[in-house]
Amino acid sequence: MMLGIDELKTAAIAAIDQRRGWLIEIAESVLRNPEVGFQEAKTSRLVADAFSQIGIPYRDEIAITGIKAVLSGGRPGPAVAILGEMDALRVPDHRYSDPSTGVAHACGHNCQIGMILGVALGLSVPEVRDALDGQVIFMAVPAEEFIDIEERLRIRENGQIGLLSGKQEFIRLGEFDEVDIAMMVHTSATSEHSKFSLGGTSNGHLVKQVEFIGKSAHSGSAPHQGVNALQAAMVGMNALNTQRETFAESDTVRLHGIITDGGRSVNSVPSSVRYEGRVRGATSESIADAASKMDRCMKAGALALGANVKITTIPGYFPIKNDRWLGELFKESATRLVGRSSVSELGNSVGRGGSTDMGDLSQIMPVIHPYASGFTGLGHGRDYMVRDYDQALIYPAKALAMTVIDLLTAQAEKAKEVLVKSDRLMTKARYLALQESIFSEDLYESL
Ligand SMILES: [Zn+2]
Ligand SMILES: [Zn+2]
Repeated sequence: MMLGIDELKTAAIAAIDQRRGWLIEIAESVLRNPEVGFQEAKTSRLVADAFSQIGIPYRDEIAITGIKAVLSGGRPGPAVAILGEMDALRVPDHRYSDPSTGVAHACGHNCQIGMILGVALGLSVPEVRDALDGQVIFMAVPAEEFIDIEERLRIRENGQIGLLSGKQEFIRLGEFDEVDIAMMVHTSATSEHSKFSLGGTSNGHLVKQVEFIGKSAHSGSAPHQGVNALQAAMVGMNALNTQRETFAESDTVRLHGIITDGGRSVNSVPSSVRYEGRVRGATSESIADAASKMDRCMKAGALALGANVKITTIPGYFPIKNDRWLGELFKESATRLVGRSSVSELGNSVGRGGSTDMGDLSQIMPVIHPYASGFTGLGHGRDYMVRDYDQALIYPAKALAMTVIDLLTAQAEKAKEVLVKSDRLMTKARYLALQESIFSEDLYESL
């Protein structure tokens, strides 16, 4: 006998509840084995084992460490992807940082891995699976945090990747070609009163790899014969700070960076200094404007010292466009789990400041990227910790599973409706051409 939609949801929820402990154990295990993007070997093996245990066939080593597992419903239909990010970032003072690398799950991605496996468990219940008209594609994606640019440029040079983040690379490799709709839930430390937060947008960004080139000389006996690349970088960074008043607040521009190499010997005038910069903004116009100002400032630093500067521009992320219709469906499921007063919503143009490669995916298909609370502390900070696994992992898994059931039952009527109502911002070909056009190198010489 065919179960009704509510009974299917109840069955999926029961299957997730039954393995609650196992899902939390997986999230904890990922937490204790933090790995940076494109190096998530242990996490990838753990996810692969989990899919084997659940009994869903998968492919691995996609974009180096990515995994894709496909659950086919009873009949063909649209494909819905459920995404979980695998990577951590470098926050050495985080309580769970790896002491040898300083890498820590300070963005809660470990809970996303628990979530996708929870959704997989819920939808693998035979009655549920057979009732779906379409496919559910689970993806454990590498490298959402846009860090370690020099290392990523190196593996790109070797031909191991073409674009520098996981979802970007999945798009480039064609792994999203058969996907119609994509969803994920990110953790957050928002208050008790907002257990789920939907909508809003993220900043887009561009990445600048900057190398100041000076001339080495003895710092004690002949500094006047050298050209100090570190001083050039400092003038460049100070110039950058003078630009802040030139940005409209509505564009939420952020210009920031780190010195990744500040010189090698204190007794030799530094001749090579490297800066990894980030330019964020709400629109491609504001990003382009801020990026040209970053270039100008770095060149000013080189000019002031009579140094050279090489600026490599690398495509970053697009601002996210959360799909309204998909959001409505998710909101209903979230409301059923935690009550209406615990589900908040931002207007789709309200910026959240950060950036995500889910923004890139949102250019080519309907996506949602809601937030689930359950953490405390500051995201990317030393105190970002899980407070409540039900809220940070179990509820999101249930809400995603319920939304998939809504989308893919009854001849996938709702999924087809989303696909008709939602407008694509660009084709995959246009997206890839745009990203490719951003890669560039500019050498400014005054040495
Ligand atoms: Zn993050
Ligand atoms: Zn994150």
